[in-house]
Amino acid sequence: MFFIMKGSITFFTGPMFCGKTLELVRHLQIHAAQRVPTVCIRPMTDTRSRKVESRAGLTYEAISIPDADEQTVTDIIERYDVIGVDEMQFFSKDIVPILHQAARHGKVILTSGLDTDFRGLVFPSALALFSLPETEIHRSRSVCSVCRKHNATRTQRLKNGQPVNRNEPTVAIEGADANYSYEPRCSDHHVVLG
Ligand SMILES: [Zn+2]
Repeated sequence: MFFIMKGSITFFTGPMFCGKTLELVRHLQIHAAQRVPTVCIRPMTDTRSRKVESRAGLTYEAISIPDADEQTVTDIIERYDVIGVDEMQFFSKDIVPILHQAARHGKVILTSGLDTDFRGLVFPSALALFSLPETEIHRSRSVCSVCRKHNATRTQRLKNGQPVNRNEPTVAIEGADANYSYEPRCSDHHVVLG
């Protein structure tokens, strides 16, 4: 049996502020500009906005999906040729085989999200994408908020400006809880307590 890959699957990833959402939106716009049926989905978990917003200011309209709603994802994929997925880290890893299958059938899948959580541990959906031989990985670095070098691979979580304990929940949205903030840090300056 031959494995045929007619489409593609791409993962723009790295820590916060590395430009991964900017890359996603830039690629979506390239397809949409030529009237290729293009859509972007994002998880309902992230309540900050209905749009995909890069910190550089580029935006793209997005459809919010409840995390476990795989049928909705499948239905949306069928109606479009290019499918963007923002904030991959908030989706369960079960979305990845659906995206992979769509790429095998000719869809262009563009995904964006954090590779690791505030502890430096890989997110399940990121691991699932890394594990596919077909995933084209664009892993970017950011500038460390402490040493200002372009070597930040990690996302530092702060609560009231202080590093947090590793027992904290994996998902805590910046802005939704006023006490939390995030910064890109290099491995030397990334701090997790406990
Ligand atoms: Zn540093």
